[in-house]
Amino acid sequence: MVKSAQEMAGIAPEVLAKYEPVIGLEVHVQLLTKSKIFCACSNRFGDAPNSNACPICLGVPGTLPILNKRVVEMATLASLAINCTVHEHSRFARKNYFYPDLPKGYQISQYELPLATGGWIDVEHDGANKRIGITRLHLEEDAAKNLHEGFAESATKAYIDYNRCGTPLCEIVSEPDMRAPDEAYAYLTTLRQILLYTDVSDCNMEEGSLRCDANVSVRLRGTQEFGTKVEVKNLNSFRFLQKALEYEIERHINVIESGGRISQETRLWNQSANRTDSMRSKEKAHDYRYFPEPDLLPVHVSAAWREEIRRALPELPKAKRARFVSVHGITPYDAEVLTGTQALADYFEAVAKAGASPKNAANWMQTELLRRLNDSGKEIEGSPVTPVALAELLKMVESGQITGAVGKKVFATMFESGRAATEIVAAEGLAQISDTSAIEQAAREVIAKNPDNVAKFKGGNEGVFKFFVGQVMKATRGQANPQAVNDILRHLLA
Ligand code: ADP
Ligand code: MG
Ligand code: ZN
Repeated sequence: MVKSAQEMAGIAPEVLAKYEPVIGLEVHVQLLTKSKIFCACSNRFGDAPNSNACPICLGVPGTLPILNKRVVEMATLASLAINCTVHEHSRFARKNYFYPDLPKGYQISQYELPLATGGWIDVEHDGANKRIGITRLHLEEDAAKNLHEGFAESATKAYIDYNRCGTPLCEIVSEPDMRAPDEAYAYLTTLRQILLYTDVSDCNMEEGSLRCDANVSVRLRGTQEFGTKVEVKNLNSFRFLQKALEYEIERHINVIESGGRISQETRLWNQSANRTDSMRSKEKAHDYRYFPEPDLLPVHVSAAWREEIRRALPELPKAKRARFVSVHGITPYDAEVLTGTQALADYFEAVAKAGASPKNAANWMQTELLRRLNDSGKEIEGSPVTPVALAELLKMVESGQITGAVGKKVFATMFESGRAATEIVAAEGLAQISDTSAIEQAAREVIAKNPDNVAKFKGGNEGVFKFFVGQVMKATRGQANPQAVNDILRHLLA
């Protein structure tokens, strides 16, 4: 739990246990279109400030927005992936507010007729599955980005980068269905994974392409009615989401326990002070003076177009996990790791397709491959060992051409050099020794050198057997057939 001096008097566990948190998330996702939502400006991230701006996204009077069709297509795909009903007719509205990052003085958003409503996602949490409702997914344009020189209250200058102005956004609003900070964390992780699979966004939190606001309240356990909620903004990492929620939950309980009332407000996560600060009292819809956007036609998604988009839906993580378990026979845990990203899952299936046993593929990927990728800062897409090359190595182990121990050394060489397993094994003479006379000779030498351990073994210390196996493997550079080593040692030590 995150605590800070005055506001956060420690809460006794029995007091904490009386309350149930209620959490709902609003997630903004930038879509990976080439151009912006209402103009032809590039939607690329990281360009020189204000290099991607035109009269339309700068809101010059007399210009008119034109809806980017690809935005609707991507948002529809995302909506279907989270089980929403995509409406044939939706509409843009003006959300009026005055702020330097919004040159028009209003944001074009969707309000009473959003693109999609009524969805859900299944979230695994604490070994159980929980279905979290999605209230709506609507489209809007992003505002520009403010950059401050100096820090917080002592900022001296503000810069505005209008490149972000007009970036297409999906806002995904959840039902208040979550009951703990780690459940909210799991929801966001799952949602992000689904969106990544559909390729509509890179969901990069550091770059702001996935942003999350958290709504939280507490109520006495057993009661139906929700408590007053607070919205926390500025949560630009998973960790901050969790910390901010933990902080708010304790703050709410403290206020209520001391006879106070929670006021409905918007707060900001203050990452340097590890607390939330009040930002403003909660704005109401009427503060925005919403009205239908007169410069745009209603959005029309025909049933035919919607179904065409549905056909482009990839197999989503949950279905893929289930299939990996049932078809490939790997454990649910392995399936979870290997469906972490689409690229990882594709790699695994390519190894299996190239003829390696899926179980071995799963094991070797998780131990040898992922560890080395991680150590060398590489992504699976840039792996020096291709799926086919890994499959070739695994098949050599599976057929007994090389031992598992040698296979690991060969893999290391493959990873460093990009050479093929067969080539490395031939060049370095690593083929498995199944010639029993060679193994027997090595075993006899080990036994002769270790009379003490022989005595121990004969005295009933079965554990010493492993020592002998290890020594023989070492003497044969890991190349001896392990079963033969076992058999021969048993025989010689009997
Ligand atoms: P507002 O009109 O204040 O924006 P909404 O009804 O649109 O409120 O809900 C915004 C978000 O807050 C949604 O994600 C919803 O699930 C969540 N939410 C609503 N009521 C509560 C509550 N009492 N406690 C926690 N979250 C809530
Ligand atoms: Mg809202
Ligand atoms: Zn523009």
